[in-house]
Amino acid sequence: MVMSNKTQRCPLCGAKGAVHEARRTEYTYKEEKFYINQPALWCDRCDDAVITPADNKASLKDMATARAVIDKVLTPDEVRKARKKLGWTQEQAGEYFGGGPSAFGKYERGEIQIPKTVSVLLYTLSTNKALLDSIEKSLNSIIKEHDVFLDEHGEYFINTKKAG
Ligand SMILES: [Zn+2]
Repeated sequence: MVMSNKTQRCPLCGAKGAVHEARRTEYTYKEEKFYINQPALWCDRCDDAVITPADNKASLKDMATARAVIDKVLTPDEVRKARKKLGWTQEQAGEYFGGGPSAFGKYERGEIQIPKTVSVLLYTLSTNKALLDSIEKSLNSIIKEHDVFLDEHGEYFINTKKAG
C-alpha cells in the first residue's frame, strides 16, 4: 500500500489540502453500522474522500471481518486459526470442505466469505477432536462399504441393477 501524508489537490473540488490517510469511517451492512480505518484521499473542504482500488485492497480484510461478524461466520483470521489448529494446509482444507485448493486462501485474505455450513463445520471440528476422529472413522466405513463394487479382478465394476 502506498501511503503518503503529503497533501494533494482534491480531485473533487480542486482544493489543495486533500490528505491521504486512514480515518475512522462508518459503513452499513445489512442495516448494521460498523467502523473501520479506511485509507483514502480525504478532503476536509468538500467533506468527502476518494477511495482508490489500492485503498479498497488495503481495507479488504477489515471489511470482510465486519461482514463475517454481522453474518455470524468465522472471520478471515478465525478461519486461519481454526484450520491451523486442525493441522491442515489451505489446500487440504479446500479438499476436505470443497471449493478447491485456493478457497481457503481467499477466505483467509477476506476476498470471499466462507460459506456458513463450512464455517460451522470448521469451527466444530477445530474445537472437538473426538468428533474429528469419529468423522474419519465414518469416512473409512463408507470406503469399506464400497468394496461391494470390487469385482474378481479387484477393480471397480459398477452394476447397480445387480446389487442387492
Ligand atoms: Zn475537495
